[in-house]
Amino acid sequence: MTQEPLFLKPVFHEKIWGGRNLATDYGYQIPDGPIGECWAISGHPHGISVVANGDFAGQDLASLYHDQPELFDNPQMDRFPLLIKILDANGKLSVQVHPGDDYAMAHENELGKTECWYVLKAKPGAYLVYGHTAKSKQELDDEIDNGQWDQLLGKLPVKEGDFVYVPSGTIHALTEGIEVLETQQSSDVTYRLYDYDRLGKDGKPRELHLAPAKDVITVPFTMPSVHQSSEQVGASTVTTLVAPPDSPYFTVQKLTVKDELAQSMGNRPYVLCSALDGEGELEVAGKTYPLKKGQHFIIPHPVADWTFRGDLMLITSFPTPGKY
Ligand code: ZN
Repeated sequence: MTQEPLFLKPVFHEKIWGGRNLATDYGYQIPDGPIGECWAISGHPHGISVVANGDFAGQDLASLYHDQPELFDNPQMDRFPLLIKILDANGKLSVQVHPGDDYAMAHENELGKTECWYVLKAKPGAYLVYGHTAKSKQELDDEIDNGQWDQLLGKLPVKEGDFVYVPSGTIHALTEGIEVLETQQSSDVTYRLYDYDRLGKDGKPRELHLAPAKDVITVPFTMPSVHQSSEQVGASTVTTLVAPPDSPYFTVQKLTVKDELAQSMGNRPYVLCSALDGEGELEVAGKTYPLKKGQHFIIPHPVADWTFRGDLMLITSFPTPGKY
């Protein structure tokens, strides 16, 4: 049974709202052009991670999940359930909504998409489009049909260190000057509601998906309840940003490592980790792996215990046990 972490090579996506911060902030070798998304841990066919080290070097995460189920605590589902990205919004993203599991399965053969953001950077005055003001489905449909976006769309100011949970059915969009670590269900279904009347690369407006968007938007919008808790472990801190029952699909934690932080698998199936600040190392089964900002890896199920050392900030997550 492997006793190695699985370090993963990121995949980059060009976006009209992207920029160059993924190179300058994380040292990634990114392609030319406005790069908006780093798919850091992904088994999704639109950008699959490849293992960079150890026994499984060169293998992609989708086939590894299928071929070596013991690494993932023998899951029932056929696809890797979570997707981790870093998003660099240099411009506004389209105002959008994602379907839940039932709608996505029926119409797209995909999982639904509940997502959440840990804000890594935000310029002064930065805000998200988040939620809406319509009191009824009729009011929502009318305001969409009439393009009353200023009246309809909610705004949420954000700053570095904020955490925002975005259940499927929530209208949302990043706007310029924001960088986030996104934890989401592994899905690429987006219904675009409003694109600020911009033109795409081909000189035409990007496609909107008003009918399915209206089908899946939750009315009325209510702020999701998110109960956070922090635990001090020596000089280090473990903060649970979201967990069931607030979030049925996944748990997300922030680890602030000072000196040393020992972790155990416990009842987790496996753990997705993103090092987002600082430097240090990871020790697994007597072997050490240097860690720095911008690295993403999975601790597979056979690893019972591991230790982080140094001065590090990580966001970690795991799918809800038994869910997949
Ligand atoms: Zn989204």
